[in-house]
Amino acid sequence: TEELLRKSESFSLIGELSAGIAHEIRNPLTSIRGFAQLLFSETESIRGYRELVISEVDRINAIIGELLFLAKPQSSDLIDKDLITLLRQTITLLNAQAHLTENEIVMETNPGSLYIRCAENKLKQVFINILKNAIEASPKGAGIKVKVIRRKQCVLVRFLDQGKGIPAEIVSQIGSPFFTTKSGGTGLGIMISQKIIQDHHGTLHFAANKPKGTIVEIMLPLSVSQSID
Ligand code: ADP
Ligand code: MG
Repeated sequence: TEELLRKSESFSLIGELSAGIAHEIRNPLTSIRGFAQLLFSETESIRGYRELVISEVDRINAIIGELLFLAKPQSSDLIDKDLITLLRQTITLLNAQAHLTENEIVMETNPGSLYIRCAENKLKQVFINILKNAIEASPKGAGIKVKVIRRKQCVLVRFLDQGKGIPAEIVSQIGSPFFTTKSGGTGLGIMISQKIIQDHHGTLHFAANKPKGTIVEIMLPLSVSQSID
């Protein structure tokens, strides 16, 4: 029954999304079709259309990639894992890609080991989503910090960037399916992350960094064995 429950839960999530997904896929497809028609008609200047066709196909690919992750039966077995190790592994992965934009991610605090009960891959996906957003919002060369603070039975992870920040009028829309301010964005990263953090009995919040940029705060409960010491 647990297996069935898990299945129906993911089916209903996909069910809820499907109307929006169909819409999102149809938009780029409509323009691909229109441009393809122009290309074959040879009556219009076709300069630049090839790039548009390619970028629209890339957008469909990005959306489908995030959906495949959502639908993939990832191991959701809960195990005690050291959060610091998970963060380090994720940061190493992203720093390998971030060197092009010189946005180095550094972990500023090291409280030793902090064990949390979690589905390792899912939590890593959350950290990847948040750090990718931070890199995408940052100008070339701006650093990104990760701070980890123990709060009694919980741990607070704070991601700080010095990027363009989030205008007050759109804060409430972040995390709604397909809400994005990026031309190639899918608007699914935060929604998926919020769902995963909820499943871990945690919270995810956005705040403004000073003088500029964004802070993302994730609060997670420590595993029972950790929280008694
Ligand atoms: P996507 O990255 O595909 O746009 P997300 O769900 O990951 O989708 O993010 C939704 C939106 O939230 C982004 O388009 C952006 O406007 C805003 N956002 C998220 N993180 C940051 C950040 N660190 N700095 C500025 N804006 C952000
Ligand atoms: Mg994103």
